[in-house]
Amino acid sequence: SIYGDYIKSVIRTVPDWPQPGVNFRDITPLLQNSSAFRKLIDSFVHRYQDLELDAIAAIDARGFIVGAPLAYELGCSFVPVRKKGKLPFKTISETYTLEYGEAEVELHSDAFREGDRILVVDDLIATGGTMLAAAKLITRSGGHVVETSTIVDLPDLGGADRIREAGFNVFAVCS
Ligand code: 5GP
Repeated sequence: SIYGDYIKSVIRTVPDWPQPGVNFRDITPLLQNSSAFRKLIDSFVHRYQDLELDAIAAIDARGFIVGAPLAYELGCSFVPVRKKGKLPFKTISETYTLEYGEAEVELHSDAFREGDRILVVDDLIATGGTMLAAAKLITRSGGHVVETSTIVDLPDLGGADRIREAGFNVFAVCS
């Protein structure tokens, strides 16, 4: 994408966090830099402004940071995809496997109308498990997933390939 190299340059790598051997990609320097944050949101706006989206489905919690300004700018709904146990109304959920154990994402049962055009956003794709679970959940609830979109993709982990193999489009601002 147009600002990809620049956005990448303002993401910090924190070695051995949250555990030894993990290189955590920390987006807080990007958020602190107002011109970088504007360029980030503009990258998404530029890509999606003519696609007539009905809703942005943003993944708990860093996906919210991108999803909310994008929904505001595109004039569409904002829908939170949350971790288990956070949503108060009737929910549907999707379980997925992690390296150790399981995780679950939830959506309110009235979040979309049948056939709504949905963009799913998160900050980062690692194994792709979280994004894929969210995309499947939205599909099950009757939404049409136009694309899954992220600030960062870690291509060595194969997450984007896995999401594409399941039939969804993937866009990353940087890799
Ligand atoms: P996945 O399900 O693709 O393995 O992991 C992606 C999810 O975990 C995303 O919701 C993302 O926020 C979080 N995550 C995993 N690793 C990182 C990382 O290095 N940096 C950030 N910012 N988030 C990460």
